[in-house]
This record gives sequence, C-alpha cells and structure tokens, in this order.
Amino acid sequence: MSSQARPWNFSAGPSVLPESVLRQAAAEMLDWHGSGMSVMEMSHRGKEFGQICSEAEADLRQLLNVPDDYAVLFMQGGAIAANALVPMNLLGRSDAADYVLSGSWSVKSEKEARRYGDIRVAASSGTVLESDGQQWQPWTWVPDAASWQVRPDAAYVHLCSNETIGGVEFSDWPDLAALGASDAVLTVDASSNILSRPMDVSRAGVIFAGAQKNAGPAGVTLVIVRRDLLGHAQAACPSAFDFANVAKEGSCFNTPPTYSIYIAGLVFKWLKEQGGLAEIEKRNIAKSALLYDYLAQTGFYRNPVHPNFRSRMNVPFTLHDAALDAEFLSGATARGLLQLKGHKSVGGMRASIYNAMPIEGVQALVDYMKEFERTHG
Ligand SMILES: *Cc1c(COP(=O)(O)O)cnc(C)c1O
Repeated sequence: MSSQARPWNFSAGPSVLPESVLRQAAAEMLDWHGSGMSVMEMSHRGKEFGQICSEAEADLRQLLNVPDDYAVLFMQGGAIAANALVPMNLLGRSDAADYVLSGSWSVKSEKEARRYGDIRVAASSGTVLESDGQQWQPWTWVPDAASWQVRPDAAYVHLCSNETIGGVEFSDWPDLAALGASDAVLTVDASSNILSRPMDVSRAGVIFAGAQKNAGPAGVTLVIVRRDLLGHAQAACPSAFDFANVAKEGSCFNTPPTYSIYIAGLVFKWLKEQGGLAEIEKRNIAKSALLYDYLAQTGFYRNPVHPNFRSRMNVPFTLHDAALDAEFLSGATARGLLQLKGHKSVGGMRASIYNAMPIEGVQALVDYMKEFERTHG
C-alpha cells in the first residue's frame, strides 16, 4: 500500500495524498474511462463529469454520514474565502455572530467576519490558562463550552475544529441549545481535520474545509450546509458565492474546480476502501499517540499543547535548543522526512500526519528524532 521509494511528507498543506490515488490519476490522465479525454478537458456539464461529481458527493455524504437536509457543495476560494462567505450567507437576517478563538485560524475568521456583521468574541484561549498547578500558554488549549458567552440573537457561533498551526483540536462540538442559543447554528472551519474522524454533522449549520490538508488537492473547498439556512444571503454576496445558488445548481452555478473535485473523489473512494472514518480514526489515534508518547518521555523535544487538546493531525514540537533546528531539518530531509519546519509564527517543527500518512512514516520520524537526540543530547 505504501512505498518506501517515496519520502515521507509531513507538509501542513497542501499535503500528502494516498499514493494509489496519485497512481490512478496518472493512469487516467490522458483518457478517463475510455472517454478519450482527460478530466481536465471535459465539460463540467457533460455526463462524464456529472458522474465524477455526483459520485464524489455521494461518497462524501456516506463517509461523514451527512443528513439529507444538508447540501454538500464543492466551491472555490479556500477556507479563507469561506471566512467571508459564511457571514455573507448567514447574516442576511440577524446581524450578530459570535466567535470562539483558539488560535491563528479562528482569529483570522473573526477578523474577516467583522467586515460583514456585528461580531463578538464568545470565548478565547488567547490568555495563559492555570490548571492543576501548571500554566498553559495562549493558543495551547480550548475554552470550555460552559464558559462561552453566546448572545441569544446570534445567527451562528464559529469555531475552528483543528488549529493547524497551533496543533490544538476540539474533541467534540457542543450542543448550542444547551448553551442557551437554540436559534444559533455552529459554523466550523474543519479544513485540517475533516475526514480524520467521524463528526456529528447535525451539530453544525455549516462545515467548511479547504481540501488540500486532508481531502484532496488545493482548489476545491468543501461546504456542508443545512438547507434551511440557504436563501438568506446579504445583498452584496456575489451570486457565485451564494450557497443557495451553488446548491441549486449541484455545484455547477459556474465552472467548478473540476480536476480537484475528481482527485478529492478518488480520496473519498480510498477512504471507503480503508474502512471509512471509524477505521481511519483508529489509525490516526495510533499514529498521533506514537509521536506524543515519545515527546512525553524526552526532555530534548517539547510539545506545548495541553494534553486534552492535542491535535491528531498537526503535532508542533520544539527542540530544547533552537540553534539545532537547521541541522535537525537538513538531517530529516536527507533521510526522506520532508517539510517538517514549523509555521513561522510558532517556530520549531511541525509534523502534519494526515490520513494519507501511514504509521510507518510516523515511526520513521520518531526513529530519526531518537537518533538525533542521541547524537546531539
Ligand atoms: C489551511 C487552513 C486555512 C486556509 O485555507 P486556504 O485554502 O488557504 O484559504 C484555513 N483554516 C484552516 C484551519 C486551515 O488549516
């Protein structure tokens, strides 16, 4: 299934894809299923692409168990555009939305939304948390839902289910009705953990995700939206970005990113072959535990995130001496362990271990980290 011939790719995104998907795409590049055309050369309104797109939607629905009263949209613009599209689409009636801040991406979402409505911060982990006699730095933990200040007239409450840069993940999403906001819906930026574990779609009004972390190539954004939320976009919302238009036209209101949808569709089929999200979650638990368990028993490296909120997808860590970073990285590259440099805002290293990274790759990383510790400790 996995070949040792290719290096292990720990990129945060765009990131590793299943090798079998890349091979199939290569084999089908010049002639998709006897059509005589590359998927890139097909009309988005023809029967061939129609089949590719509807299978991708059906497979995504099956994997995530998406209820029938939700539309699944394949859009463009990435998650950063979705930061504007969510308020533009949902703040047509009520102007108010509340944001939960847990790191760089949710902070970005809140800042963008301020251009489109009356935005407040419901909760933030941008402060030091004192717990059990220990201190946790800003953005290394998730604010407990019981502490969220949600306005009764909020149209929605936004969270980022996995902070790709900080390596902080929500283990589940709260029930807003229990927080006294029964009219609000949850909106979730799930760019970096969608399809890594089962998710309760019915808890959210909108889930969006740029595909290039865990679901496919850049260029397509997955949007899952409850149908009763459609049709209330602000007047200034561009027609091509009004979720109602995109839903009505089966993601073909205008030309969708056809090739990216095709590759994402192959990833969905690969996930089904692996046994679906329950199975992939088991593997992701085992993979992340392998790395976190090693980090817990060494003083040479350090992960800053509170143990309850450690991401299974993105594992940031620092070396005890940052002067060794460059040598660590060049040694890693020489061993075929690619793209481990941390985000510039946090420094150090980051191992992104998305679905397509097998446990053998994580083991190879841990082996290298141990050896580097032995030779530099
Ligand atoms: C990568 C990422 C984004 C940015 O996505 P673009 O596709 O570049 O717009 C937003 N949110 C999260 C959680 C991400 O990981």
